Amino acid sequence: MHIIMKLSKLCNLRCTYCYEYAELANKERMPLAGIEYFFQNLVNYVKQRPDQIPIHLVLHGGEALLLPESYLREFCELERRYLGEAGIEYTTSVQSNLVKVTDRTLDLLAELNISLGVSLDVFGEQRVDIKGRQSQDTVLKNLQRLIDRNIPFGAIAVLHAQNIDYVIPTYQFFNELSINYRILPIFSHEDPPERIRPLLISPAATVTALQSVAKAQFAEPTYINVMPLWVYFTAAIRHLQGRKIEAYQPAKEEWALIMNTNGDIYSHGDAYQPEGLMGNVFSQPLADIFTTKSYQDTLKLRHQRLETCRSCEFDRQCNQLPIAEAIPSERTYDKMGNLQCQVARPMIQFMVEQIQQSADAQLLLQHYSSESVPAMIGR
Ligand code: SF4
Repeated sequence: MHIIMKLSKLCNLRCTYCYEYAELANKERMPLAGIEYFFQNLVNYVKQRPDQIPIHLVLHGGEALLLPESYLREFCELERRYLGEAGIEYTTSVQSNLVKVTDRTLDLLAELNISLGVSLDVFGEQRVDIKGRQSQDTVLKNLQRLIDRNIPFGAIAVLHAQNIDYVIPTYQFFNELSINYRILPIFSHEDPPERIRPLLISPAATVTALQSVAKAQFAEPTYINVMPLWVYFTAAIRHLQGRKIEAYQPAKEEWALIMNTNGDIYSHGDAYQPEGLMGNVFSQPLADIFTTKSYQDTLKLRHQRLETCRSCEFDRQCNQLPIAEAIPSERTYDKMGNLQCQVARPMIQFMVEQIQQSADAQLLLQHYSSESVPAMIGR
C-alpha cells in the first residue's frame, strides 16, 4: 500500500499545471504528533491483517525537501520507532523538484534511507519559480550531481500540450542517462482551472504520444523502464498468455491513499473531493476508518468505475488501476454515460499487436514462465 503524505504544500516553484497551486505558499506542516498517532494505528492495522502488506511512504508536497532537517529526522525516527520496531516492511521515498538540493540534503537522504524521485519535464517550460523564471538550468545542474554521486533515482515527466511534440527527445534524454521515468499526462482533481486549460491534451493525443515512445523503445536496445508503458506491456503479455491476475479490490488492499497535511485521507482517484474523503488519520485509527460509511462510499465509487473493466477484453490482465483510480480529468464517458478507457485499453491493444508482429518477441514470449511477468502495481 502506497501512502502519499502531503507533509507541506510550501514550494519554491509555481509549475503552471500543479494541482496544489493555490496552496504553494502555505507553510503549514503535517504535525509530528499527528504522524505519530497515524503510525501507531498503521502498525495496528497492518498487524491485524491476515497478510502483512508492505507500506510505501511517499513524502510529497509542495517541495518536501524544503522541510528542515530536524523535521525529516524526527519523521524517520517515528517510522523506525513504530513501523520498524513492529517488524513491518516499509520504504520511504521523496518526490522533489530538485531545485534546492544541497550535498548535505543528499547525505541526509542517504543516511535516512529515503529514496529520491525527481520531477523534470525536460521540455515544456511550465516549471517556473515564484518570479516566473525557468528552473531547468538549476535542476539539470543538480541532476548532474546525483549522477556524479551515483545516487539512484527515477523521474516523472508531465506530458502536456507544450511538450507533447517532444516526447521522443524527452525519451532520448532519459535513455541516454539511463534514468527510469514515468510519463504522467497532465491531470486535474477538479474542473481544470483557466491556467491549465491551454496545456490539456486529449486521450487520443496521449495514446499517440505514448505509442511513439513505445516504438522508439522497441526500435533499439534500451535498459530503462518507462512507465506506464511497462505496465501496458506486461498486461499485453498476460493477455497473449491467457493469464489473469486478481481483480483490484481496494477493500482487500488499497493501492494508494492520499494523506493531506491536516490528516484527511482520500482514495487516489477521488483525492480532495468530498466523495473521496475516508476520514482523518490524526483523530481516527486507520482500521476504524476502513469500517466507516464514508469509506464504504469510496469503495462503491471505485466498484462502479470497475464495471468498465469487467466488460474489457483485458480485464484482470491489466491491473485495472487506470479506471478504478482515474482522477476526474481522466474520466471520459460515452453518450450513454458509460465510463470509457481511452488510454490504457488502446495502449494494451497496441502492445499486443507490436508483440504479435515481432518474431523476436514471439520467441521471448515462449520462454516466459507464467510467473515471470510481475503484477505491476504502477498505473
Ligand atoms: S484496459 Fe482499461 S478497461 Fe481494460 S481492464 Fe485495464 S483499466 Fe480496465
